[in-house]
Amino acid sequence: MISLIIKSFTILFPSTCLLCRQDILNVEEKPVCSFCLSSVELDPETKRGDPSLVDGYFSAAAFKGPIRELLHAYKYQGKDYLTSLLVDLWIRNWDPWFAEVDGIVPVPMARWKEMNRGYNQAVLLAREMGRRMRKPVYSQWLIRKWRSPSQTALTREERLQNARTSFSTRRSKRRGPPKTLLLVDDVVTTGATLTACAHQLKRMGVQTVLAATIARDA
Ligand SMILES: [Zn+2]
Repeated sequence: MISLIIKSFTILFPSTCLLCRQDILNVEEKPVCSFCLSSVELDPETKRGDPSLVDGYFSAAAFKGPIRELLHAYKYQGKDYLTSLLVDLWIRNWDPWFAEVDGIVPVPMARWKEMNRGYNQAVLLAREMGRRMRKPVYSQWLIRKWRSPSQTALTREERLQNARTSFSTRRSKRRGPPKTLLLVDDVVTTGATLTACAHQLKRMGVQTVLAATIARDA
């Protein structure tokens, strides 16, 4: 009965696909129609053993086209219901190192930004990934300092310098650190943020830090 009501409501007030802007009549397809979802092209990239960044890195796609639109909607239009869909795309061509990862850490946001947006998309993505992988999510371990300026307007060198001093850690010392963690964020640009976060986690005693983002903006 309830699904019937929802269906009638959807037919009367159809929502539009985020990508092609066509009306979506099938309630299960919201917020992206099945045609657009199946035609999203991914371009996965995996790097292992490059110590200049992290111990291993995966991204599902370049930051352009539909992926860019989806992530933009996710970030700036409060579309936090896109989490599940984005994780589907993320792991379409990737087994996220389930066997070797002991836990997941989202890249923290500046607190004023998170308060402004109402959520940190990296935390939502980490929780969804953790739920599917059945791995713990440590969203309190890394902290972005209050005064850390936005990375957006900085040059690459300034970003690296800024990132190095922008993070600290907070973790109970009662138990030993996990051996391998997966650091997650929505987009990587220079890698300065991931490198700085990995550095902090290693200072806590974590041996291997792998990182994954949905997109790379090179
Ligand atoms: Zn569409």
